[in-house]
Amino acid sequence: MTPTLIGTLDSTRTLADVVPPEQSIIVTIDGPAGTGKSSVAWRLAQKLGVDVLDTGAMYRAATAIAIDRNIPDEDVDQILRVVMDADLHFDWNASPPAILAWNRPMGERIRDADVSARVSTIAAIGPLREHMVRKQRIIAHQHPRLVSDGRDQGSVAFPDAEVKFYLDADVRVRALRRASQIERESGRRPELNQVVRNLERRDHLDKTRKDGPLVVPDGAIIVDTSELDLDQVVNHLYRQVCERILQD
Ligand code: C5P
Repeated sequence: MTPTLIGTLDSTRTLADVVPPEQSIIVTIDGPAGTGKSSVAWRLAQKLGVDVLDTGAMYRAATAIAIDRNIPDEDVDQILRVVMDADLHFDWNASPPAILAWNRPMGERIRDADVSARVSTIAAIGPLREHMVRKQRIIAHQHPRLVSDGRDQGSVAFPDAEVKFYLDADVRVRALRRASQIERESGRRPELNQVVRNLERRDHLDKTRKDGPLVVPDGAIIVDTSELDLDQVVNHLYRQVCERILQD
């Protein structure tokens, strides 16, 4: 029964169309940097006919704000104050949704190298994480059919999510992907060992922090993407979500 039903789903009839309207569909995707989580989350959400939440963009936005206002990492109170004042939220009409601060789109600023270098330090601030998780739950309340990607989505933000994934990949594979992405965006190919070191440093900070560390959430499906391309990962996750949701 279930495989037959899955076979009838396509771009004109998604999973979201065939489950009862009152049923929420929260799918979490966690994992270290460079596993392709954001691209996978976006493509999976489109295939399922649900919304997507890039929680990394929220921490990146907070970091860009702290850098641009010259607020040191140690000044937790000021970081929290200014981030709350910015009222970070998403423009849900953009594809994928774009993050805004003070009602202005932050654009590609959140992807700059200085932001990537500092984001894990800022993301370790406990009260800031509490603020972000609160916002994420409000978003899920307003968008109860959601693929949410980050580091703590299945463990802290949505432990009762319908389906949880943990994406992983060999660090050199992740570094190669990241290097290609940087080359595509800037025309400059970074040195691979430097990319490996940056990823390892960020992973270490994310895994060892006290609040909301990167862990494999209870009940998560672990997917090693080292040998898979984007389509393969998306299709694998898609089948898992359909099977689990349609079984219930
Ligand atoms: O996903 P992305 O690489 O854009 O995330 C940037 C950083 O934001 C991560 O390295 C991590 O430090 C932080 N982050 C987090 N919790 C999340 C999402 C991202 O701590 N839920």
